[in-house]
Amino acid sequence: MNLENKSSRVLIQELKAVATRERELLMQVLHYLREVEIRSLHLSMGYPDLYAFAQNELGYSCGAAYRRISAMRLLNSVPQVAEKLQTGELHLESATAAQSAFRKEDRRRRDAGEEKLTVQEKTEIIQSMVGKSTRQAEHILFEKLPEVAPPAEEKTCALADQKTLIQFVASPELIEKLEELKNLMAHQNYDGGMDVLVERLADMALRKLRPKESKKAAPLKSPAPGVQTQSQDRTRYIPVAVKNTVRLRDGSQCTYRDPDSGRICGSKYGLQFDHIQAFSQNGPNTAENLTLRCGPHNRWRAEVENLN
Ligand SMILES: [Zn+2]
Repeated sequence: MNLENKSSRVLIQELKAVATRERELLMQVLHYLREVEIRSLHLSMGYPDLYAFAQNELGYSCGAAYRRISAMRLLNSVPQVAEKLQTGELHLESATAAQSAFRKEDRRRRDAGEEKLTVQEKTEIIQSMVGKSTRQAEHILFEKLPEVAPPAEEKTCALADQKTLIQFVASPELIEKLEELKNLMAHQNYDGGMDVLVERLADMALRKLRPKESKKAAPLKSPAPGVQTQSQDRTRYIPVAVKNTVRLRDGSQCTYRDPDSGRICGSKYGLQFDHIQAFSQNGPNTAENLTLRCGPHNRWRAEVENLN
């Protein structure tokens, strides 16, 4: 691109036009993303959520994906946001902060037994953020909703070497507890890193919470016809030995595979045991009829089956 011969006046004029076009394109991205979510295309393509889809398929950074998806969700509840984003009167970061605060406020109200934020309330808050800088808009937001913490990108981001960046807001109470834990663990070769501390805590919690593992793994094959086992009665109870066999075989990750690309979801969060032949259609609780699925893929499959 050669801009050297353009006059300064034309350069600025054209730059403004391009920036306007950029905001228009952003709106298009949000509408396309919404349609992808409505059609659950990210799930059928082997992603556990829209964030992973946006990073892998669209090349967005974790933060860029988070902001676009937050703004898209805000559009769903407050459609007027579209016009304000397009004119630049509302910044993408402000929309992200608003969506995060609305979500937290709704959760807080639900826990307190109160009504959720109404569209009217959300619209009024957004209106008061229009035309303000991101910092001013966030300030307004937390004046209106003082009970919710400052916004944070509570997302996990995949890094190199199979590592993941996890970011969240800690309350003073949590910080105090973590400091106490650090002191209590000071004698256990603990090096002070938060990652080491969380891993130690995870180990302790897992030892306590994990169901007692059976030494014997269940056979992969179904028992011979006529042989009555616990897995053949019509309860949803899955024996621990069967669960262990499935976990081991599936590598403790979601096994959903996109039939077109062959992409395997591989999510390790919120794993559930999914019946290959549905439980409602007499699918047995055997290792060969069970597979690990993340929550979104398990629910999606159930939705698709209900539609058919
Ligand atoms: Zn999955």
